[in-house]
Amino acid sequence: MILFNEFKNLKDSLPLGVSLLAVSKGHHQESIRKFFGYGQLDFGESRLQEAIPKINDLNDLTQLRWHFVGTLQKNKVRGVVREFDFIHSVDSLSLIERISRISQEEQKTPNIFLQVKLTEDPKKGGFIKQDLLKSWPQIVSLKNINLIGLMTIPPIAFNSNQKKDLFCECRNLANYLGLKDCSMGMSNDWLEAVEEGSTWLRLGSLLFGKRQT
Ligand SMILES: *Cc1c(COP(=O)(O)O)cnc(C)c1O
Repeated sequence: MILFNEFKNLKDSLPLGVSLLAVSKGHHQESIRKFFGYGQLDFGESRLQEAIPKINDLNDLTQLRWHFVGTLQKNKVRGVVREFDFIHSVDSLSLIERISRISQEEQKTPNIFLQVKLTEDPKKGGFIKQDLLKSWPQIVSLKNINLIGLMTIPPIAFNSNQKKDLFCECRNLANYLGLKDCSMGMSNDWLEAVEEGSTWLRLGSLLFGKRQT
């Protein structure tokens, strides 16, 4: 786990409007408490089963905001809507429709990023651009959804310039749709993401070190 000074330097180096999500998957709640002590309030988890006990253990820290970043299965939507304030990984029309319906039942309005797939990548989900544009009128009419931005993950094989191009395309699409936020950039490509207009960096290993579980 990085030291307070390193964390502070990293945060101070970010342009205004760029937020840092500490992706705590694979790390114990004590590590989350340490980062809370550094002033960090936003934490990301990718599996509901792993997140629930941590969220419960940390419920004395009432200021924490929980972000779901993993693949979201249909049968996990209710749990995620109950426990999380942000969902970064909404990758289909049927999924966001389900989130909307369940959010109404649960009287929640989660902050939503739509995950987009701007290049062929069999390992990753996401809306392809044409489908997103076609579904857009339906998406914006959904209740209990606070649509804030787009999220994307470049293929691991991409080099720095290819990643930048992809991030740039994501930023342009978000602007075209009138969305303020772009959730892009992880430990190994956050600099490229900042350059191309990311507003949420999702950092795991850079902050916490190697995953423990
Ligand atoms: C694990 C994960 C991260 C953090 O990855 P690092 O490379 O450890 O920074 C970011 N986003 C998503 C969707 C993840 O699953």
